[in-house]
Amino acid sequence: MRKITALLLAMLGAHPAFGWGVEGHQLVVRIAEGLLSPAAKTDVRGALAPGEKLEDLASWADEVRRTHREMEPWHFVDVPLGSAAFDWQRDCAPDDCIVAKIPAFEKTWQDRTANAAARREALLFLAHFAGDLHQPLHCADNHDKGGNDVAVNFLGEATKLHTLWDSGLINHMPEEEALFAMLQQAITPQRVAEWSAGTPEQWCNESFHAAEATVYGLLPPHATGAPVELGESYARAAQPVIEVQIEKAGVRLAAILNRSVR
Ligand SMILES: [Zn+2]
Repeated sequence: MRKITALLLAMLGAHPAFGWGVEGHQLVVRIAEGLLSPAAKTDVRGALAPGEKLEDLASWADEVRRTHREMEPWHFVDVPLGSAAFDWQRDCAPDDCIVAKIPAFEKTWQDRTANAAARREALLFLAHFAGDLHQPLHCADNHDKGGNDVAVNFLGEATKLHTLWDSGLINHMPEEEALFAMLQQAITPQRVAEWSAGTPEQWCNESFHAAEATVYGLLPPHATGAPVELGESYARAAQPVIEVQIEKAGVRLAAILNRSVR
């Protein structure tokens, strides 16, 4: 799968700031699907064309944003590092950020009178934005375009901090099937109950705090402008954060889809 993902990315033209790479977004959707009620499963299946799989469409929103630049801000929110938390006025006016888009698309998804194309699109946006919201750098900014301006050298490979968190670190973790099994195992019923509560705003603040504590907090001292040297110790600290963020994203996507058929 990783080879296919790499090929797909090469075909698409690698682009920074796209949220978890294809693999991360697929993992989120696969975790969510495992937690759907039978009614929610039927609901989701009914919104897709025959043969379509939600996990294959988890990065569709990143593809359409190439031609719909107005959708660009929907994928993230720049909460400034050093601030207390997400602030609607400062960070999301006029409701043009991920924290506003998730409830907006949930509303369309829940609206059974909405036309089928609009509901399908709402589902695809929800499936994708649940992932993006949990990529810490999609809810944090250090005057560096969410880490896109921070050059890093990860185990000898030149990349950007944002790209490292989208896919570089995941590629350094166990391969997709092993990772999926590991993540699924960690999701206890107690965690499902705990994580399903809250709002996209609160979930965004969790990402923001993960960015503060880990993504930026564990960067070694470096000269301005010089690439930051990162290695195994950074990867070891990042891995549990990535795992729990992907788990939470999957659980919360399931919660959104499950409550629409209650
Ligand atoms: Zn995205």
